[in-house]
Amino acid sequence: MYKKTILFSFVLLLFVRIASAQSVFKNNDLEITKLEDKLWVVETSDKTTMYIVEGDAKAMLIDTGTKCEKLNEVVRKITKKPILVVITHMHGDHAGNMDQFGEVYMHPADSVLLKQVKPYPGKIHYVTNGQIFDLGGKKLEICHMPAHTPGSIVILDRKEGNCYSGDAFGSGQVWLQLKPYATMKTYINSCRTMEKLMDEGINKVYCGHYPYVKKAYDKSYITDMRKLAESLDSGTQKDAKPFDRKVSIGCDHPMIATLGPASIVYDPEHIK
Ligand SMILES: [Zn+2]
Repeated sequence: MYKKTILFSFVLLLFVRIASAQSVFKNNDLEITKLEDKLWVVETSDKTTMYIVEGDAKAMLIDTGTKCEKLNEVVRKITKKPILVVITHMHGDHAGNMDQFGEVYMHPADSVLLKQVKPYPGKIHYVTNGQIFDLGGKKLEICHMPAHTPGSIVILDRKEGNCYSGDAFGSGQVWLQLKPYATMKTYINSCRTMEKLMDEGINKVYCGHYPYVKKAYDKSYITDMRKLAESLDSGTQKDAKPFDRKVSIGCDHPMIATLGPASIVYDPEHIK
């Protein structure tokens, strides 16, 4: 009887989990899934990610992905409210369709990367650390988290305990070897800031490549990242290996180190 109760509870839990994440739109480029009340994840077929967060008066599109023809029209299938577009950082796989929107928000420290993405004819607004966007009944706060890029930001919904992190802490693997280089200490400081925010009530980190992960990270992931970065900074990390992914990246001989679910890809020449 006890075993049957456990099995029943497990099946029920599985059902609730599947039912709570509901696909609401799909085309050749992307699929949109409702994750929570007023929160959707947009996953492209090439594994980039956007989030749509809706308030009573406005909505926010976090990042603009890659393969999304008519993204501006697709977003309208989810919300008809005025849309604010915020880019977590200026990499092509997060800012690919900016030109479909007349204005975007970004951190000024990522302006150096604008030349790497498609020319943007619209108006750029620069965000500041601590800036609040009031969507009506929902306030989203900008928090600067440099390292992956100089102007990486995360977006906090303190009421829901949510954080939309772009690539600031990776999606299992954070890349720190990209130009312009950040020191390992810069990343350690961002991890510490994030851990403090999680002590204050943030408990779900929704990363920038959700298809690889299919869940929100908890604090232990950020702590693993910080401990791993500290071991690289202090020179005590002995298990790093060459990172041999065949893509164009910022240095000739990148390395990868791993602790639990957290990996850091880095340039051994630019730790300090
Ligand atoms: Zn990135």
